[in-house]
Amino acid sequence: MEWAVADITNVFLPSDCRVCGAAMAAFARLRVCEACVARVGPQAEAEQDVLCTRCGDAMGMESARFGAAMGVSECTMCRLAPPQFDRAVAFANYDNEMREMLHLLKFDGMRGVAEHVLGAGMVAAVLKLREGAASELVVVPVPLFAARERERGFNQARLLAEAAVKRLLRLEPEWTLRLPAQVLQRVKDTRALYALDPSQRRRAVQWAFRVVDAEVVRGREVLLIDDIMTTGATARECARVLKRAGAAKVWVATVAKAQPESVQNVVRHDAESFSMWDAGSALPARVIKPEAGKRLRF
Ligand SMILES: [Zn+2]
Ligand SMILES: [Zn+2]
Repeated sequence: MEWAVADITNVFLPSDCRVCGAAMAAFARLRVCEACVARVGPQAEAEQDVLCTRCGDAMGMESARFGAAMGVSECTMCRLAPPQFDRAVAFANYDNEMREMLHLLKFDGMRGVAEHVLGAGMVAAVLKLREGAASELVVVPVPLFAARERERGFNQARLLAEAAVKRLLRLEPEWTLRLPAQVLQRVKDTRALYALDPSQRRRAVQWAFRVVDAEVVRGREVLLIDDIMTTGATARECARVLKRAGAAKVWVATVAKAQPESVQNVVRHDAESFSMWDAGSALPARVIKPEAGKRLRF
C-alpha cells in the first residue's frame, strides 16, 4: 500500500516546492526549492569517462575497456550506423530531479524552469562543444508539431534554446549564435512517440521533419537543441535533413540524456504523464511519484 501513502502526502500547499514538498516563501518565482535545484547535477566525472564521444551513450566498463584497447571511443551503434550529427552532448542524465524539472516544464507548463535551472544546464552542455564546434552557429530547436505546440502554448526546446543563447552571448562574447524564427518544421505528428520502442521510434520520426529555409543552414554549422535525448532517433533524423539541406556540421545539445539502461523506464514514465496531460486531466501536484522507499522525504 505504498502508493496510498505517497498519494496522501502528494497534497501540497500552493507554496510548497513542487518536487520535494518543502515549504517555500509564497512569493518565490520558481516553485522549486534551492535544494532540489542544486540536485540537478551534471553527469558525474566517472560516467563522463565512458560516454560514447559521438552520441553520449554510457558504454559500460566492458565495452569502454574494449574500445580503449582498440583505439575507438564510439559505441557499437555509432560505429555500425554512424549518425549524421557530429557530436551530441547533454548536461545531466535523465533521472531524479532532472526528470521532475522536465515534467514540470512540459506537462505542468512551468516555464520558469527553462529560464532558470534548465537554461543554465543547457549552457553547460553547449560549452562541452567548444573544442570542436565553430564559433559561428545556427541554433535550431527541435520543433513540435504545430497542433501540439498550440496545445502546450510553447515549444520547450525553443525556450531552452532562447535561455541558453541569452546566457552564452554574455558568457562567450566571441561566439556568434543565431536563432532564426524557424529552420525545421515537424510535418508528422509523432504524438505517440512515448509509447514506442526504439525501432518503432526510428520509423515514426522518419520523414517527420523538413527544412523550411535551406539558405539559413547551407554551408553552416548547426547547433540542434532539444530537451532530452532518449534513443537518439529524433536527433539522427533532424541531423539527416539538415545535412541534406547543406549544413556543414550538426552538433546536438540536450539538457538531459536517457542512458540505455533506463530508456524503458523513461518511456513508461513519460507515457503515463503524457497520456494524462493529453487527456486534459490535471496532473498531480507531484508530477513524478516517488519510487517506493527511495525518495520519500516527508
Ligand atoms: Zn524541493
Ligand atoms: Zn554512440
